[in-house]
Amino acid sequence: MPELKKETYDVTIMGSGPAGLTAAIYAARANLEPVLFEGPQPGGQLTITTDVENYPGFPDGIMGPELMEHMRTQALRFGLEAHIAYIADVDTTTKPMTVTLDDGTKFQTRTLIVASGASARLLGLESESHLMGYGVSTCATCDGYFFRGKEIVIIGGGDSAMEEATFLTKFASKVTVIHRRAELRASKIMQDRAFANPKIEFIWNTEIVEVLGSREEGVNALRIHNTETGETSDYPCQGVFVAIGHIPNTKVFTGKLKTNDDGYIITEGGSTRTTVPGIFAVGDVQDFTYRQAITAAGSGCMGAIDAERYLESEHVIEEHRTENWGT
Ligand code: NAP
Repeated sequence: MPELKKETYDVTIMGSGPAGLTAAIYAARANLEPVLFEGPQPGGQLTITTDVENYPGFPDGIMGPELMEHMRTQALRFGLEAHIAYIADVDTTTKPMTVTLDDGTKFQTRTLIVASGASARLLGLESESHLMGYGVSTCATCDGYFFRGKEIVIIGGGDSAMEEATFLTKFASKVTVIHRRAELRASKIMQDRAFANPKIEFIWNTEIVEVLGSREEGVNALRIHNTETGETSDYPCQGVFVAIGHIPNTKVFTGKLKTNDDGYIITEGGSTRTTVPGIFAVGDVQDFTYRQAITAAGSGCMGAIDAERYLESEHVIEEHRTENWGT
């Protein structure tokens, strides 16, 4: 059971990826004494990538887990209270709101910055998890560069798969899209772009049985099963991108915050405000377009500023600072 320092917080942050930790750095530096709950994947999606070469400030690149450790250390330096726990429920009808953790602990918060991210949907194969970061990836923008001159496979038939396939032709010698049906789900324009690209081939009606390879030598093939013919074969490739959708981590807010049809939290015109005053959404939990560490970090900063402005508008900050001064 986490030992909370307070019964009521001004700022609670849910999630510890770039969005949550950047919100924490800003809120802690603003003396808002935030508390952060790291969630089921401390450090977020960057902890499952290897080199990060596109995060500004690191000319030689940095390993994803190391970047997250830096952000965490930076937030702790400003006094962040962080706990390894999940937020299981938020009662938005009380003011302050009531938060319940996974172990049943309850506390109050005046604002909540939701940075719970989105998880890439996976096929669910053991070999897929084992080789994640060793030839299997869920992010073409992050990892495409490592597959220069290689033959790679994209799994999926939606817009993400078409976008990633098209993007990856910049690096790969050949890109093969493997889709479980004979028809793509992607929008026509994305399909047309992919069909017109001479470097992209398609394999239809095919499911992935196994990713073949090792952590030492990377991926060397996919064992595939054609659902029409019943045939199973090994398809050689050196990289696999799983692009079968993302799942925003918004279960806790079902029926409480407005989301789009895919479950992403809707924020108000260029801000991080959600449909519940005092709740702000940042990072991939509200972003299905950019999904980058740097954009997540940027929106985390926005969330902390929006939360601070909300507390000012509610005249909480003066109270808070008065309490701190002991008057
Ligand atoms: P999506 O539209 O849900 O497509 C997922 C694809 O993965 C589908 O083709 C699906 O097959 C396949 N799939 C799902 N589970 C699978 C499994 N277990 N095994 C094999 N294949 C599986 O997801 P998305 O492509 O990430 O797109 C999500 C949303 O973001 C969409 O609204 C999309 O339009 C939007 N988006 C837009 C852009 C853009 O406009 N630039 C780019 C990316 C995403 P079935 O077709 O058989 O179901």
